[in-house]
Amino acid sequence: MQRLFQGLAGMPDRSSQIKNAGWRRNQCDCAADDKLREECGVVAIHGHPEAARQVYLGLYALQHRGQESAGIATADGQHLANIKGMGLVSEIFTDDVLSKLPGHMAIGHTRYSTTGDSALLNAQPIRVESTKGLIAIAHNGNLVNLGNVRSRLEREGAYFQTTSDSEIIVQLIAHSKAGTLVDCIADSLSQIEGAFSIVMMTRDRIFAARDPRGFRPLSIGRMKNPDGPDTIVFASESCAFDLLRAEFERDVLPGELVMVTEDGVTSRQYATGIPQSSCIFEHVYFARPDSKIFGRWVQASRDEMGRQLARESGVAADVVVPVPDSGVTAGLGYAEQAGIPFRFGLIRNHYVGRTFIEPEQRVRDFGVRLKLNPVHNLLEGKRVILIDDSIIRGTTSRKIVRMVRGAGAKEVHLRISCPPTVSPCFYGVDTPRKRDLIAANKSIEEIRRFIEADSLAYLSLEGLLKSCDGGERNGFCVACYTGNYPTQWVDVDEILPATASV
Ligand code: SF4
Repeated sequence: MQRLFQGLAGMPDRSSQIKNAGWRRNQCDCAADDKLREECGVVAIHGHPEAARQVYLGLYALQHRGQESAGIATADGQHLANIKGMGLVSEIFTDDVLSKLPGHMAIGHTRYSTTGDSALLNAQPIRVESTKGLIAIAHNGNLVNLGNVRSRLEREGAYFQTTSDSEIIVQLIAHSKAGTLVDCIADSLSQIEGAFSIVMMTRDRIFAARDPRGFRPLSIGRMKNPDGPDTIVFASESCAFDLLRAEFERDVLPGELVMVTEDGVTSRQYATGIPQSSCIFEHVYFARPDSKIFGRWVQASRDEMGRQLARESGVAADVVVPVPDSGVTAGLGYAEQAGIPFRFGLIRNHYVGRTFIEPEQRVRDFGVRLKLNPVHNLLEGKRVILIDDSIIRGTTSRKIVRMVRGAGAKEVHLRISCPPTVSPCFYGVDTPRKRDLIAANKSIEEIRRFIEADSLAYLSLEGLLKSCDGGERNGFCVACYTGNYPTQWVDVDEILPATASV
């Protein structure tokens, strides 16, 4: 985010000239294994004597949503403490550190970010002293109209303490003229555009909200207390509730603001009538299969993606092999539907450290072999169907195809459990520029040749939507597969044909 705001200084407002003009997202090289990266996971808890430790457990379950920094803020009705650091949740929050976070309320955040904006300054929760009191905020997603909002706030005298877009929300709250704090929050949220699942804390209250389109997931859980009020929990994914032994209650609705106080839970819709566009890539890749998001189990969606893929693009083969871990559930569905044996023909080393999640080409080349190894006796002489969840640049897929062929496979057929990724994401997912997305620049046949597979097929968009159906009155965002963005504020340069900017 640092570079993003530096870039905004003196930036002309082009919105009057070009409908879709907006700010330039801080694009970057993608991570070592050529996967798209989620940027955050959030947790909040109200009414637990060891709130920090509970949030720690929740963040631990959400570690897949971000590994570069983490933070926990707690409150006890009087004081608000906040500790954050760079690294994994378990590395930052030792027993000693957790003991410095007293209170019965807490919020937490785990973050993935790009090299340039990994600074501790932008790790969350951020704590901001405002005219409405001390507020801590943790945010999953990306705002897309923040350039305009930030400039306006600065003209009105706002002094920003970080370069994080999350602070914009706090500054909007501080500058709101609404009567009560909850009205100020509702007023602020209605002024911002983009993706946000937010947890917020003051000295004595917890707030949770989702943007009106419901891009990112956020759920409410409950821990029953026989001797007093229940403990209320919020988390980006329901898998966090399992570790906390909390019961999943429901999703926070798109456009809903929930407040938890000593007196209980209250809620209001601060925005209505905006079509839902939840991120379908959460079902394809980001969320854990043991989570229920947008009203549907991720496992069920991925299994159906595999089955649908087999129906749409079956091919004669001896064995179905998933690219672990994210291709496993779709691989199982594919194998069962096709009646072809499922085998773990690629083994993933789960102990590769964060050192190897650096966005540098040098390490990426090395990282694939470090992460995956073929099981020769399962692949030798076989016609193999490889199942993966995406092809981003194509370089990793080519290495995996070569690896499987090098282990003796007679044929390698790659099947992808979503449509071709043709456009970048502006809603909280770290995506390469359009020019670096192989599917934005090559036909499927050209990609097949590039990755050296015997055949290549993607799941159709209709097939993907059908596979994820059954959720909460779902509308999904599918912009990375279509280039049709549900919000107006996207980077016009990125929606031009990739060839125009190469
Ligand atoms: S553009 Fe793609 S990754 Fe981004 S929110 Fe939409 S579906 Fe998700």
